[in-house]
Amino acid sequence: MFKHLLILTTLIFTSAGTSQVSMAMQQSAPAERLTIPQLDQQIVKELSDTGECVSTEHIVLCAQDGTFDEDTLTTLIARFDEGAVAIRQYLGSQIDMPGNGSQPIEFFVHSDVGVPHTTIFHEPWIFLNIDTITHDMIPYLHEMVHVMAQWSWRTSEWVGEGFANHVAAHVAESGVGYHRSFVLSDGLDSLLEFCSSDAGAAMLPLVGEPGRRNTFSGENAAIFRKMMSDRRAYAPAYYAMSWSFTDYLIDKVEIEGLRAIAESQEPSAVAESISGKTIEEHKRNWRQNYCHVG
Ligand SMILES: [Zn+2]
Repeated sequence: MFKHLLILTTLIFTSAGTSQVSMAMQQSAPAERLTIPQLDQQIVKELSDTGECVSTEHIVLCAQDGTFDEDTLTTLIARFDEGAVAIRQYLGSQIDMPGNGSQPIEFFVHSDVGVPHTTIFHEPWIFLNIDTITHDMIPYLHEMVHVMAQWSWRTSEWVGEGFANHVAAHVAESGVGYHRSFVLSDGLDSLLEFCSSDAGAAMLPLVGEPGRRNTFSGENAAIFRKMMSDRRAYAPAYYAMSWSFTDYLIDKVEIEGLRAIAESQEPSAVAESISGKTIEEHKRNWRQNYCHVG
C-alpha cells in the first residue's frame, strides 16, 4: 500500500495551504491541482479501500495502513466515542448533523492532511494529520462539534470556531478527554496577550461579523485570507477571541440565542431583539471585561 501511494503521488502544500493543494504526478503528467475537497474525496476512497479501520456505535476511524498499532487505534477510538457521547449530551436538541445522528462520525488519518478539518460535503467526516496524534494534540472534540452542530458554521465563520471551542472546553472540563490543539496549546490562558497584539488587532474585525469564508467580501475577505496565509501568526488570536466572545454571548443569550445570531445574516438586529443589545454593544462589553480594553 505504501509503495503504491509513493508511486502515485507526492503532495506539496501551497504556501497558503488553504484552498489548493498541488499534486505533482510522477512521470511526466502535467501537475494537477486538487482542491481540499477533492483531496478529501481521494483520501476517503484510499482509506476505505486500503486503510486500517476500527469502529464503534458512534465512530469509524480509518488510518493509513501500518501507521499506528492496533492498541493505539483502540485507545483513540474509545476516546473519540466517549467524546461524541458527551458532546451529544451537551448539545441536546441543538444537534444538527446528517441523518440526525444515526450515521457514525468518520475520522480519516492520513499523511496528506494539512490542518485538521471537517468536510464541506456535510458528511460526518473529519480529517486528521498524523502529527496531531503522535503529539496528543488532536482537536477531536472541536472537530466533532463542527460535525454535530452544523448550524454554528453554515452562515457564521466566527461562531463556528467559537462554539466548537466552547463545547470542547466544557466537555473536557467535565472530565471527558482533552481539549488541546497546535493552534491554541494553552487554551484561553493567553487571551489578554492576543487581545493586545498586532495579530489580535488585525483579526478583531472578523469577531462578531456575519458571513463565511466563501461569502466574505472586501476587507473581511482580505483579513480572512491573511489568517489562512499565515496561520501561525494570526490563527491563535482569531480562535481565542472567537471562543471567548462565544462564551460571553452564551452567558448572555444561551445557546438558543447564539444559534439565532449564528443563523442570521443580520446578527446584530437579532441580538438586539433577544437581549436588548446589538452585537457591537456586546462586543464592546466583552472587550472591556475580557480583553481589558476600554
Ligand atoms: Zn474549527
